[in-house]
Amino acid sequence: MAPCSVCAKPGKACSGCHNSFYCSPECQKEDRRTHRLLCKTFKAFDDDHRPTTTSKRAIHFPEKGKCAFIWVEIRSENPLFHHWMTPDLRIILGEDDPKTLNMPRDFAAEKDPRHIIEINYRDAFTQSGSTPKQSIASMVFGKTNVAWSGPVVACGRGLNFHSHIYQDLDTTDLRFLDEFLQRYGIIRGVRINCNVTQELFGKPIFEEIFMQEKNVSELFSEGQQSQIAHRIGTPLRACLEIPSEDMEDPLISMKYSYATWLYMNCDLDTKHDLKTWGNAPEYQGNAIVVRQDKKRLCPKYLEALFSWCWQNLQPKFKAVTKQSKAKRMQVLAQVTKEDFELYREEYEKEGKTPSYD
Ligand SMILES: [Zn+2]
Ligand SMILES: [Zn+2]
Repeated sequence: MAPCSVCAKPGKACSGCHNSFYCSPECQKEDRRTHRLLCKTFKAFDDDHRPTTTSKRAIHFPEKGKCAFIWVEIRSENPLFHHWMTPDLRIILGEDDPKTLNMPRDFAAEKDPRHIIEINYRDAFTQSGSTPKQSIASMVFGKTNVAWSGPVVACGRGLNFHSHIYQDLDTTDLRFLDEFLQRYGIIRGVRINCNVTQELFGKPIFEEIFMQEKNVSELFSEGQQSQIAHRIGTPLRACLEIPSEDMEDPLISMKYSYATWLYMNCDLDTKHDLKTWGNAPEYQGNAIVVRQDKKRLCPKYLEALFSWCWQNLQPKFKAVTKQSKAKRMQVLAQVTKEDFELYREEYEKEGKTPSYD
């Protein structure tokens, strides 16, 4: 008995490959769509067939056709650094060093895999959201958010301190790859829910949301940049969500969104700037906030940032509204990553939640 490939309960070996395990017909059925692509060929790639002691089993996604196991020679790039090993993928990906992408830890952690899965690819793939005709991932798995072009090779590496050591992939890894390739290109942002959404739908103020990359391109080009967030090295953009029909109840007034305070004006260049210093746009309704660098934005992080703007910066901005540019620049000098991180540490320690209405 080994853990089920799907749910990790004790399971029985698949009769085809003896490599994946299943606790029940249900779990086996759930895995079938991807498992069948590698099941039958696994035997020809077991330890007895390893061509050299330094080769590892990897998964190849060719430009045409289905994915398959391959042996990849792991070699030392530089004889002086023995443990700096890389897979030799020249035959498949060409002479140039391939680009690599590791399946993110926070994705992998939910799934408890035994490896880091490293995805090697050659061609730059577009992020425009257009559907490629020969995308490996879309061909094999049906849906993907990224236009993968050219061949892709997935290799395994050890976890934590063993991350420099290449490992064999097997039939159980395809499941993780499938899900990752489907979800890659998803941007994790935060919706700041207004009081109406909170009350009517029981939503939290700061809610994590998943958006397809192609759907947020408008947000990137037109969403408003938070000057404060940029100053602390967390480039954020926000825009208002178009209210859905059930929101249009004229009896309930929507209060200003929490997003407002991320957008205090920090410019000091023109007369108009000086006049509108510290002003914030009056956001009403739900706002969507994403990181411009497409990294994950955590609700907790945004909450602390909001609180910092509202509780800490706003009074400081206000105190110098009638004062000289130099005085205001002194206030701006306090808008630093270090200051925010100190604030955030305290904020999270105290487990505060914003009290703003
Ligand atoms: Zn199971
Ligand atoms: Zn099998």
